[in-house]
Amino acid sequence: MKKTEFEKWSSQATRWSTRYLNEIENYPVRAQTFPGEIAAQIPDAAPDEAESMEQIMADFEHIIPPGMTHWQHPRFFAYFPSNAAPAAMIAEQLATSMAAQCMLWQTSPSATELEQRMVDWLRQSVGLPEGFDGVLQDTASTATLCAILTMRERTLNWESNQKGLSGFPHLRVYASSRTHSSIDKAMWIAGLGQENLVKIDTDDEFAMDEDKLRAAIDADIAAGHKPAGVVICVGGTSMGATDRVRKVCKLAQEYQLFTHVDAAWAGSAMICPEYRHLWDGIELADSIVLNPHKWLGASMECSAHFIKDPASLVRTMAIQPEYLKTYGKDGIVNFSEWSVQLGRRFRALKVWFLLRAYGLNGLRTMIRNHVQWSEKLATLLDAEADFEITTQPILSLFTFRYIPASVTDPDTLDELNRNLVTAINDDGRIYLTQSIHDGVNVIRFMCGQFDMQESDIDVAYDVIREVARALE
Ligand SMILES: *Cc1c(COP(=O)(O)O)cnc(C)c1O
Repeated sequence: MKKTEFEKWSSQATRWSTRYLNEIENYPVRAQTFPGEIAAQIPDAAPDEAESMEQIMADFEHIIPPGMTHWQHPRFFAYFPSNAAPAAMIAEQLATSMAAQCMLWQTSPSATELEQRMVDWLRQSVGLPEGFDGVLQDTASTATLCAILTMRERTLNWESNQKGLSGFPHLRVYASSRTHSSIDKAMWIAGLGQENLVKIDTDDEFAMDEDKLRAAIDADIAAGHKPAGVVICVGGTSMGATDRVRKVCKLAQEYQLFTHVDAAWAGSAMICPEYRHLWDGIELADSIVLNPHKWLGASMECSAHFIKDPASLVRTMAIQPEYLKTYGKDGIVNFSEWSVQLGRRFRALKVWFLLRAYGLNGLRTMIRNHVQWSEKLATLLDAEADFEITTQPILSLFTFRYIPASVTDPDTLDELNRNLVTAINDDGRIYLTQSIHDGVNVIRFMCGQFDMQESDIDVAYDVIREVARALE
């Protein structure tokens, strides 16, 4: 493709995107393809000769969308949302046009300085006090890995990057049994090992039991292990489990442990002051992650990672071979020293466009609607004799079960609920996912798509009842 054709094909792509977004409701929400169906339509190897853009676009339109699950569908109620607000998409195109590589201040001063500003805009938006600095990571998984590496280095007196981990005592990290699997993975990658992630039982509020946390730390010290940090959950994936941030942070501080708060999904809702009780005490945390790429409309990937003492993160992550040393002004920030990646995308541009194009009030209204509509559906389902709300809404997430009077055997009920999720997703009008809560199969309902309306909740209500009652 020649550069002279860029405008033509870029406009074509814009037209396709516009049509797609306008017609998205006509697609089944979850891809209805079989494994291998898409791959079978793609040649085994790259072409030696150039192909025409006409052919490439035609193949895209024909092959790709039918094999996509439509995360921007207003009746996407599965997992957590992944929104790409139009303003963010436009910013992405502009950033890509500049092939921005934002590893150092010098390689993209605008990107670095805008990123600093955007992190601070986000900090203020979610009500964090001054004193938190931060960076836009690709994902929450990376932010959590960086936090666990920081725990490790800090606890081992900044020696483990140099010496490796053999010869040191076992480092212990604590988290509730309801935290996300990215914490486990970070333990593996950091070389600390699954067995040193101590999962603390939760109480009947689904929060980490602080007495058990203290007992676990004391037992580890007595056994000659080295406690390194605590990962605190705000809005867990399965049903929104939330730890008491203030209590856990205070306890951690008694033992000088580093605290990292995983609020990947729920953190976005903190732009609304009325939800901030969910992370009361957040100012005591050392590190916090929330994902604007989930609920705020920044397209993948965009994770805001706030850190109280960036020096400890940079001391953990910075490598400075000669060719990366820059001789800019004092006080410049090189964000590659705050993360795993060297090369980095220009993520701040989409945050800037997004926050300005919708305004905090626009985003707050959206989030408040989602919370209210989710509560409405929970109330409606709760009033049906053959449904139960297993866990009450936390923000816009709740779990439920189908419990017709004719079925009493627990295993049969589990199977029925698993089958119900499959049947609903095969139906295609809405998309839900399952989870296991305290040993039983439950169905998750979460709403968070940017364009959804209250009427989409009514469709969900109808589909859930209709498909369930047709199962028997
Ligand atoms: C989504 C999610 C993650 C993982 O986020 P990524 O950005 O996909 O790595 C971690 N923790 C919680 C609570 C989440 O909801």
